[in-house]
Amino acid sequence: MEVELTAPNGKKWSQPLGLFINNEFVKSSNEQKIASINPATEEEICSVFAATSSDVDSAVAAARKAFKDPSWKSLSGTERGALLTKLADLLAEHAETLATIECLDNGKPYSVALNENVPEVVNVLKYYAGYADKNFGQVIDAGPAKFAYTLKEPLGVCGQIIPWNYPLDMAAWKLGPALCCGNTVVLKLAEQTPLSMLYVARLIKEAGFPPGVVNLINGHGREAGTALVQHPQVDKVAFTGSTATGKEIMKMASATMKNITLETGGKSPLIVFEDADLDLAAKWSHIGIMSNQGQICTATSRILVQKKVYDDFIRRFKAKVEEISVVGDPFEENTFQGPQVTKAQYDRVLSYIKSGQEEGATIALGGKPAPQKGKGFFIAPTVFTDVKPSMKIFREEIFGPCVAVVQFETEEEAIELANDTTYGLGSALFTKDLVRAHRVAREIEAGMVWINSSNDSDFRIPFGGVKQSGIGRELGEAGLAPYCNTKAIHVNIGE
Ligand code: ADP
Repeated sequence: MEVELTAPNGKKWSQPLGLFINNEFVKSSNEQKIASINPATEEEICSVFAATSSDVDSAVAAARKAFKDPSWKSLSGTERGALLTKLADLLAEHAETLATIECLDNGKPYSVALNENVPEVVNVLKYYAGYADKNFGQVIDAGPAKFAYTLKEPLGVCGQIIPWNYPLDMAAWKLGPALCCGNTVVLKLAEQTPLSMLYVARLIKEAGFPPGVVNLINGHGREAGTALVQHPQVDKVAFTGSTATGKEIMKMASATMKNITLETGGKSPLIVFEDADLDLAAKWSHIGIMSNQGQICTATSRILVQKKVYDDFIRRFKAKVEEISVVGDPFEENTFQGPQVTKAQYDRVLSYIKSGQEEGATIALGGKPAPQKGKGFFIAPTVFTDVKPSMKIFREEIFGPCVAVVQFETEEEAIELANDTTYGLGSALFTKDLVRAHRVAREIEAGMVWINSSNDSDFRIPFGGVKQSGIGRELGEAGLAPYCNTKAIHVNIGE
């Protein structure tokens, strides 16, 4: 049920391989497994049990039982908060091991996992720990004879499905508010990157969560994912992943009218106006598309630049990419960009690069594989210029270190181009004109706008999309609403 592993940085740990149900690791019912591959070396790290639909049944039954059990149900918000705080503290204690696992399994730089991802998880859990005894209803006066009070009730069993690009963060974004509100959870990990959260499973038990409150299962989307979404005993589904899968989930969830939260794809624009600080724009344009190997749903993957400063911006942007985007071994300290997560993603990004060339765009930088010692799913950071808005590289989500830059002449044209997409997740704009900044921010169809920045995310601030980028919000106070029901209790004190 576990295997001893040693990473290239010398870190050793005992890696759980089972499904975590009722606070125990168990095999899958038919003992099927999925191999986890190190994308930097293409070698297998280990094989992890993958849930069948009957395992999903067991996990949901455990969560359902735990939801009613006094060991969880009768806890006060303060007590639930204390459990979340304890889990956050344990995660902080195990930061180096968790960052090592994340680096190995996902390919992201160790320094990023250690200094950004693990702290983010700790912050999110502590934030929702704080909310656990501050999320209450109202008393509503309805005249001398009647009043009502409202209760914030948990929904029940939450089926949560996460992707592979931020295995720890995405789990925390979902577990934090769900547990804060008193729900129980079956969380399906992404089959490409299950290892870090299986390690966290042990910490969940150690923190003192009663059995069945948090169940973590690895498994294929088509098998375990669909079984979870369709399960009649699941009250809510929260999903982060592709728009295509989000649509399927929405359809499946309709059978029992489950409450859903979806955070899906994006093709977020970044607008550079001619009065912008071009060095600042180049810096954040780089961060906005090249961070996390370009595997970010909010990545600002379309850069729109006003004609007068187009050449100047391209020069500064290319210089920034060349200076900062060091591709290499994710365990090396100066590496900015590791490999794409899987061979499938690597092939997908390369096929988009090919399509950009075929449609007539110019590769201003990169555009090819960048293997390290002949191995790994590495791709050189790629900048396309001479892009037309009709091209696939401008319209479709690539999910890699690949950006399309176009020119515009007027503010109206920039807004039209920015909104000419089925997506609406992030967006960024660069200008020194305060009035224009706020005017354009209101016109962009997106869940988030960054003024003179890109891809800021903060546990205190709501995150989510409009149009086909999703439904509902995560993080911040807004992140609580999808996990509780407001019950109105009417009281008659008249006749
Ligand atoms: P990607 O293509 O980037 O892997 P997906 O949206 O397919 O993105 O995957 C995100 C998560 O959704 C993963 O945990 C995956 O296993 C799960 N998943 C994929 N297909 C389905 C499905 N049909 N039903 C439920 N979950 C799914």
